[in-house]
Amino acid sequence: MRTSPDVVVVGAGAVGCAIAFHLADAGAGVVLVEREAIASGASTHATGFLSLAATDFQSEPYFLLGLEGFRATRAIVPRLVELTGIDLLYQLRPGLRLALDEEEERFIRDHLAWQERHIAVRWIDGDEVRAIEPRLSPEVRGAAYEAEAAQLDSARYTLALATAAERRGAALLLRRVLGLVREGDRATAVEHQSGRVACGAVVLALGPWAPVAAPWLGMPIPVRPLKGERLQLRLDGPPLPALVSSPKRGSLISRRDGFLSVGSTAGRVLEDTEPYLLDEVAADHLDVRPTEAARDELLGRALEVIPVAAEARLVLHLAGVRPLSPDRWPLVGRVPAWQNVYLATGHGHRGIHLAAITGQIVADLVLRGTTDVPVALDRLAPGRFLHRPVRFTAAPHLADD
Ligand SMILES: Cc1cc2nc3c(=O)[nH]c(=O)nc-3n(C[C@H](O)[C@H](O)[C@H](O)COP(=O)(O)OP(=O)(O)OC[C@H]3O[C@@H](n4cnc5c(N)ncnc54)[C@H](O)[C@@H]3O)c2cc1C
Repeated sequence: MRTSPDVVVVGAGAVGCAIAFHLADAGAGVVLVEREAIASGASTHATGFLSLAATDFQSEPYFLLGLEGFRATRAIVPRLVELTGIDLLYQLRPGLRLALDEEEERFIRDHLAWQERHIAVRWIDGDEVRAIEPRLSPEVRGAAYEAEAAQLDSARYTLALATAAERRGAALLLRRVLGLVREGDRATAVEHQSGRVACGAVVLALGPWAPVAAPWLGMPIPVRPLKGERLQLRLDGPPLPALVSSPKRGSLISRRDGFLSVGSTAGRVLEDTEPYLLDEVAADHLDVRPTEAARDELLGRALEVIPVAAEARLVLHLAGVRPLSPDRWPLVGRVPAWQNVYLATGHGHRGIHLAAITGQIVADLVLRGTTDVPVALDRLAPGRFLHRPVRFTAAPHLADD
């Protein structure tokens, strides 16, 4: 019997829970430590939309990671349902990426030129779009028709990942982590509110709270909270037959529970000069208050895309914070100067889409020091900003998550 876990995973969002599941599934002894509750952070607010046509995947290398993420999620969902019995409200349907103006059309068509080399996606004109869903606006000029996109309930997904990890032997400890106990270049224990857990390796999956670990690691963690809000509406009539989004107008998705999700606002991109350190006090006060301005913006966007939304009833208004990295690639891998400490954060708009593949990559790195997932690990390396200026690039779009 083990006297201490092989790996302590800190943070029970979708990313930490996926890592805990993959590690436990591979036979490692795992303790998952969470300060509040499973899925109490960003992962509870997400639309849960998985689209390869999404704006974030606009460079081909990141798109290919997204493709691996899409496949990994599709593979893990039946496994989670079998292990836990939790209905993830998962749906696999065509995606319609709408263009309502010239700029959106150019943007979508430019990307189609290389996207169609990797996935089944093609341009269809406005009439073809309205033949699929007649309630869509006459202003729709056309769309990228993605043969397969997906959506699930992100909170249920996170709970299922944690439950499946537990079924595979992981333990859950609800405590706030305060630091690491270091011997040479190794962490020997994780310090929390009421004690310590000895460990062979540590994975920090703190989402938008990742910068609190900068003093623990002696390294800056350039992740900033990017606020996002979304709505759920009750709209009478049949569900939309496709998962709808547009670069400027966000996502419009009929969920399997009958609600229409309208997402999301992107919030303010912080200035380069602002510090990205997050002390414990600031960490407890990340702004997750829903605002009237966001509600009005989201309702306005929904009306532009599907005018009958004027008859919908607002049922739920959610606000959360995404963990944003300077180059919008996540920070995943071993922390420099530590032999056994790993980071997994900074997934921005695509943390649900990339949770399963991140879990696989991190479990591989912790247990084997390498991964078979075809991704350039240096693009993900947590230390990649150490020797170059940190520059948070402005969002090229409104959020489409
Ligand atoms: C409105 C909105 C819509 C979105 N839509 C989508 C979408 O459609 N598709 C998509 O892919 N992504 C979407 N996202 C992004 C997605 O939600 C995030 O990228 C993802 O949830 C990040 O997961 P995470 O596990 O890294 O972070 P989190 O879910 O925030 O988890 C981090 C966890 O760490 C815990 N923690 C923090 N500090 C400590 C500590 N000291 N000790 C112990 N535990 C600690 C926190 O309590 C939290 O539970 C959306 C986000 C928002 C806000």
